[in-house]
Amino acid sequence: MLTLKRLMDNTPRPVQDRAKLTNAQVIHSEIVGRSSKYGVHVVVRCDSNTEETHYDTVVEFFPPPITQKEYEKPTLNTPTFVKCSCPFFLFHCEYALTRSGNSEIDYSNGKRPVIKNPNQTPYLCKHLFKAAPAALRMSQSVALKNDKVSFR
Ligand SMILES: [Zn+2]
Repeated sequence: MLTLKRLMDNTPRPVQDRAKLTNAQVIHSEIVGRSSKYGVHVVVRCDSNTEETHYDTVVEFFPPPITQKEYEKPTLNTPTFVKCSCPFFLFHCEYALTRSGNSEIDYSNGKRPVIKNPNQTPYLCKHLFKAAPAALRMSQSVALKNDKVSFR
């Protein structure tokens, strides 16, 4: 699973530019349990509002555990799971991100894309690119409010 920084760095410049014009707001954040491999998941849901269409955008951080109740604070270098319901994500991102362990096949047919992103580079859609920094900040504040786990 690649880090958020790597996914953002991989994102093509035109997508990064379009992200500036996108309205993607964090609407919900929660800690949803732990996986044995990485520790807690911090899920941040974003409402991406573009061209009067709403997309469901999910950013999920997997910070490694330090002790049983303490985890590394999510940063740009935290392994990150991502998902978006927009068509760009379906055609360009989902397959490549699933291969790198950063997403799962949910919206596409799971076949390797031939025309869009034929090199299968794992990168983000504009909604995820815009929402990710806010999701990162939110993941840290949700951990502060949770008495079961904390970040160091
Ligand atoms: Zn999207």
